[in-house]
Amino acid sequence: MKDLTHFVNGQHTAGTSGRFADVYNPALGEVQARVPLASKAEVDAAIAAAAEAQPGWAATNPQRRARVLMEFVRLLNRDMDKLAEALSSEHGKTLPDAKGDVQRGLEVIEFCIGAPHLLKGEFTDSAGPGIDMYSMRQPLGVVAGITPFNFPAMIPMWKMGPALACGNAFILKPSERDPSVPLMLAELLQEAGLPDGVLQVVNGDKEAVDAILDNPAIQAIGFVGSTPIAEYIYGRGCSNGKRVQCFGGAKNHMIVMPDADMDQAADALVGAGYGAAGERCMAISVAVPVGEETADRLIEKLVPRIEKLKVGPYTAGNDVDYGPVVTAEAKARVLGLIDKGVAEGAELVLDGRNFSLQGYEKGFFVGPTLFDRVTTDMEIYRTEIFGPVLSTVRAKTYEEALGHAMDHEYGNGTAIFTRDGDTARDFASRINIGMVGINVPIPVPLAYHTFGGWKKSGFGDLNQHGPDAFRFYTRTKTVTARWPSGLKEGGEFHFKQMD
Ligand code: NAD
Repeated sequence: MKDLTHFVNGQHTAGTSGRFADVYNPALGEVQARVPLASKAEVDAAIAAAAEAQPGWAATNPQRRARVLMEFVRLLNRDMDKLAEALSSEHGKTLPDAKGDVQRGLEVIEFCIGAPHLLKGEFTDSAGPGIDMYSMRQPLGVVAGITPFNFPAMIPMWKMGPALACGNAFILKPSERDPSVPLMLAELLQEAGLPDGVLQVVNGDKEAVDAILDNPAIQAIGFVGSTPIAEYIYGRGCSNGKRVQCFGGAKNHMIVMPDADMDQAADALVGAGYGAAGERCMAISVAVPVGEETADRLIEKLVPRIEKLKVGPYTAGNDVDYGPVVTAEAKARVLGLIDKGVAEGAELVLDGRNFSLQGYEKGFFVGPTLFDRVTTDMEIYRTEIFGPVLSTVRAKTYEEALGHAMDHEYGNGTAIFTRDGDTARDFASRINIGMVGINVPIPVPLAYHTFGGWKKSGFGDLNQHGPDAFRFYTRTKTVTARWPSGLKEGGEFHFKQMD
């Protein structure tokens, strides 16, 4: 049995708490490693060392910091296959999807190479007679990221890239389900020239998270994961006086208008609903066809496409559309929700509950499942299933479809499929959801825009990556400077007007 480590002060460090969690190969359903779960003392020691390393990193000029990230990008490309293999073996997603996971993180690192431009600050010449005013963006100090299992490369990089580019030290607490890739990222950053202690990876569970939340040296926390944990971290982090942004769960609706290209809509739904076994916060989990006829046509197009999906282990390479879910508990939860949907009276068009694959009988596979005539009071509609299950809610009108998406408690992503520009514009303008696709099923913004949901999908202000990340990981200091030209005035006792 392989024992994984933490990565502290530039070295792999064995856990000392005596507590471990099992890391599975979800395709085989077998434990392949143990990850140490850090104690409060281990987390506090890593934070203390990061606090010592941070001033030196902050004093390194922004261009030199960016060069470390530039080299990191080269190393990520060099090791792409190795990273994807490790990622797939612990997460279960296909190899092409694992490469996409690394790639979407890498693109944020590429964006961060432009940090010197984003950190330039602002300057007003002659704001008053002989007075200049300038604003600086300064790093916060030691900041932390707490990340989910479903993107073990991308989301840690979304957090660490901007934080490090801004001159902070960074504590990463990755998911205990697939911790190998975050450790590999730390190794690569060290190889790229990042000074020891500036990035610390501490593996763990609630104990490690609470240690981060309560440590006074931690200035800011970026979290991604499920909504109940997001709310907990936001509340406790804020009450401890930290800057906190938390991104939570989702239930993304795709509205299909009667005028949509139905083949295009069905193709999009199959990819967005079942890709990565539905374990994406931007997965489409609810299709909302407008009108009975549209719904019938959509279901007719969807069924043969879904029946053709190839479900299997990542080792099948390109020959598989999606893999297992992450753990036995995740599988049991998804199957339980499908049972619940049947009991609640939804029409089960395709049933993935009895899926089995020869040679992988113990794997955590769930076959593709399609529900029709789901209603908004059902648990399968209200809950994030996070599995390969697509629900169809039939709406009579566009307004009703829009209302469903708007009334749902989550507000991460959404999409509309239509040929009508007026409807699409109206949808984009009125919808209360953070990321919107128009004939695009998974509208994940690129690195130089920002990513974030509304309602119960996001807590705190400012989004991830893009310019917002540079605001989140810095604080602004504004200096008003006067260099008198020789004429000395007496003291002033009122606010000076800039005339
Ligand atoms: P999770 O909430 O179980 O875990 C996320 C992190 O929180 C992990 O590092 C975990 O160790 C930690 N954690 C878990 N329980 C905790 C507790 N009781 N106290 C303190 N920390 C705890 O989420 P997950 O299952 O790893 O990820 C899936 C969820 O993440 C889904 O809900 C998905 O929608 C969401 N997600 C959201 C986004 C987004 O940007 N909105 C992106 C990806 C995933």
